[in-house]
Amino acid sequence: MLNENNLMLINGKWESGLGGTREVINPTTGKVLAVVSEASREQASAAVAAARKAQPAWAAMSPLERGAIMHRIAALVTENADELARIVVQEQGKPITEARGEIGGAAGFFTYYAEFARRIQGEILPSDAPGEQIWIQRVPMGVVAAIIPWNYPAALVSRKVAPSMIAGNTIVLKPHEETPLSALFMAKLFEKAGVPAGVINIITGSGGEIGEVLTSHPDIDLVTMTGSVPTGKRIMANAAANLVPVSLELGGKAPFIVMDDCDIDYAVRSAVTSRYMNCGQVCICNERTLVHERVYDQFLEKFVAASQKLRLGDPLSEATDLGPKVSLRELEKVEQMIDKAIGAGAEAVLRGGRPDRPPVEGGFWLTPTVLTGVNSSMSIMQDEIFGPIVPIMKVADFDEALSVANDSRFGLSAYLFTNDFSKIMRAVNEVNFGELYINRVGPEALQGFHTGYRSSGLGGDDGSHGLEAFMRKKTVYANYSGTSPVALMPYA
Ligand code: NAD
Repeated sequence: MLNENNLMLINGKWESGLGGTREVINPTTGKVLAVVSEASREQASAAVAAARKAQPAWAAMSPLERGAIMHRIAALVTENADELARIVVQEQGKPITEARGEIGGAAGFFTYYAEFARRIQGEILPSDAPGEQIWIQRVPMGVVAAIIPWNYPAALVSRKVAPSMIAGNTIVLKPHEETPLSALFMAKLFEKAGVPAGVINIITGSGGEIGEVLTSHPDIDLVTMTGSVPTGKRIMANAAANLVPVSLELGGKAPFIVMDDCDIDYAVRSAVTSRYMNCGQVCICNERTLVHERVYDQFLEKFVAASQKLRLGDPLSEATDLGPKVSLRELEKVEQMIDKAIGAGAEAVLRGGRPDRPPVEGGFWLTPTVLTGVNSSMSIMQDEIFGPIVPIMKVADFDEALSVANDSRFGLSAYLFTNDFSKIMRAVNEVNFGELYINRVGPEALQGFHTGYRSSGLGGDDGSHGLEAFMRKKTVYANYSGTSPVALMPYA
């Protein structure tokens, strides 16, 4: 219900939103978990103004002091991990065992980026003139607007806030309207850690209203967004009107290639994990499994058997492998995709759906579906499913696997299971995706660079390369020669 736990953080103060209220639904029960108030347009603008006002002093603090605050945040996230993990489960539906991993990541982003306190460097270049140096400095962008989706409502807060902080920016973050509670809880930890007023502002609201206000605001210096392709395009258009740079982490359609020389049991377990984690709602999930014809039957049999063994259940239970879908809307979207695929000729060797006896009444349950008889032109092989459904395609050889893998408008993650070094190197050279996992599943590492090609995004997050987006460069011509390096005009 609406209480002090659900307030927004604007300029260091806890505010009730003046833009109306929204019910947050628990996907396990379909019932109302909480009611949050949402920001008005004026409050969203006030958050941007607060961030602008706080930014110079924040940037003027030594990076080590900023890093110390970030270490305190990480410690608080860790201390409160149990509670935060339960909030994630209740608002989003992933199993508690996975939610704990998410909270580990949510703390990890802060410790990782705090370490950059002594590592953000510039360059000194020799000048063409004597008595002069050219300095290229890395400086903060200024005010960051961050927009995040519902599938990792805690970790994605950290993924945006931590690099922003160490770079000397201030930030206004809007969580997804369906999963705002993790971000609002984390806001309390930010305050407790001693983050100065205005440095981190967390506001709630719909994308169509408050998201629009933030991403088309003229006083924003960077928009960093994780979410769907249509929203990414819309945000880019809004930001373009103000010539504001964007960093977009969008959808995926990861190919998962299994060659005939690999350890099939390991590949099956990996493919199952990569498809069904978070009920298939991960941008790097195995969305299309491509299996060499020599091991196809064996793989398929084992994959189906493993899919049937997954324990669908209350995500707060330690024994659950598969929780509910996040929302009824998402559930129905996936059901329609299955029907469409079958209508186009795919065969459901395992036909899932809404269970007759759901683990908890009212939840958004969906059991696994495995589709065969698919080809690359079908929408089930082209559109992001984001659910416990997997199309498995037989490929004749590695050439076909590579060609099908690359036949996608998405370009985020790809997987290859083989022990053949020449195939590995061909994949490294020819797989046209931003992230390639060889003989392993995700998730991505803090120090890596999470970047998608084509419709999967623009820019990237994590590591030193992800941090670059949060900084711009300033060039200084420092002349100490007492004379001008260029010919001056004769008068005066
Ligand atoms: P979504 O695009 O519906 O929403 C994402 C965010 O954008 C939400 O906060 C929403 O309120 C906001 N938004 C919506 N319309 C807006 C507008 N007009 N202006 C500004 N903001 C607006 O995405 P979703 O359904 O929450 O998330 C699922 C998608 O996210 C999937 O496609 C998934 O692949 C992708 N995703 C990508 C990554 C990655 O790192 N590449 C990670 C997680 C999720």
